[in-house]
Amino acid sequence: MTTVTRFAPSPTGRLHVGNIRTALHNWMLAAKRGGRFLLRIDDTDAERSREEYVEAIRTDLAWLGLSPDGEERQSQRMALYEEAFEQLRAAGRIYPAYETQQELELKRKIQLGRGLPPIYDRAALQLTEEQRAAKEAEGVAPHWRFKLDHDEPIAWDDGVRGSQKFDAAQLSDPVIRRADRSWLYMLPSCVDDIAMGITDVLRGEDHVSNTAVQIQMFTALGAPPPRFAHEALLVGREGKLSKRLGSLGCDAFRERGIEPEALIALLARLGTSQPVEPIAAREVLVNTFDLSTFGRAPAKFDDAELERINAAIVHQLEYSAVADRLPDGMDEAGWHAIRPNLQTVGEAQDWWKLVTGPIEAREFDEETRAYLATAADALAWSDTPWADLTATLKDSTGRKGKALFLPLRQALTGMDHGPDMGELLPLIGEDEARTRLRAAATA
Ligand code: GLU
Repeated sequence: MTTVTRFAPSPTGRLHVGNIRTALHNWMLAAKRGGRFLLRIDDTDAERSREEYVEAIRTDLAWLGLSPDGEERQSQRMALYEEAFEQLRAAGRIYPAYETQQELELKRKIQLGRGLPPIYDRAALQLTEEQRAAKEAEGVAPHWRFKLDHDEPIAWDDGVRGSQKFDAAQLSDPVIRRADRSWLYMLPSCVDDIAMGITDVLRGEDHVSNTAVQIQMFTALGAPPPRFAHEALLVGREGKLSKRLGSLGCDAFRERGIEPEALIALLARLGTSQPVEPIAAREVLVNTFDLSTFGRAPAKFDDAELERINAAIVHQLEYSAVADRLPDGMDEAGWHAIRPNLQTVGEAQDWWKLVTGPIEAREFDEETRAYLATAADALAWSDTPWADLTATLKDSTGRKGKALFLPLRQALTGMDHGPDMGELLPLIGEDEARTRLRAAATA
């Protein structure tokens, strides 16, 4: 059976690094098995969902290179949920309940006070027909609960957590629909997973108890449950999902010059037993993707690690991948010369000034000025002007090492360090190079 995974964000905000990781892992799981990766927009909450966020989710996934093979929107699938609701209700698996939030709160407090788990007591199931009618006559609209089958054991082999078992009697019958008839997440998600042919649900471990309930929903709806895997949550370096991490999205990364491939290389393996490496080739990450390497401990997101990976990825990027983001006139040779010095592609702008000028003027002592004058005279053009020049100067002046190279670099670039001079000098060009050497010799 072809693997079908889905990423199911609610469009109530921008994607943050935690969602991005979930999207990536679902994409990779499908890619590794030659399957399909679907986007499901969980927009049943009309109040909080925004069209601009739907757009942003698509844009962010495109930027990350995680384009879905299909898209569904829950707001357009209401008829399906209604149908499932009627089916389950007819089967006695859904019942109306009339407690107010305060009443439920009070029940919970009493249970906790007695040292009991705060499980819903199913009082609504005890109501007689007359009592229900009386509630409705008072204008109390019911909310709806899914009735768990206490005799049906709940178990699954979790792709990350291994064998999982739940006792339905230890769970509350979940509210699936509010009094205003709007949907909670639980039932629509099952209905869609069935209709969309989802074979694998991979999501955060905060959904483990939802899975326990949903497994019974799948069965009640007459469908085999998909495979489930729950990954440990992503936390900041401090150990918890900080506010900052929760707001860290693609825009923020892009503005900081983080390449999507760097983010992907990090998130692909963070929290797994595989080493996080600056792997720019997506197929390498896909081929080595393996849920069994995922750990149970929270995955720690570290900005400094992301920056290190980003720099290493930038050093591998091909000219064609960055050409539209480079300063005017910077060609492939320019990119190759500058690339090893960059933390971000955006920094190419500053480094390119070493080629186009003007460069920072330096002051040299008399002896060095004489040396630079010699260099200006000795400069001859070829395919390898730097190697030629330094070889000539080494012979004629007896200088070597730093004394040979550093004044030339300083005179030609205004800096103490930077790109390989063998690559840079041809880009600066003969006339400009001679002009710079002479200017330094007479300064
Ligand atoms: N919209 C849900 C969420 O963002 C989807 C959870 C799931 O993957 O089933 O939490």
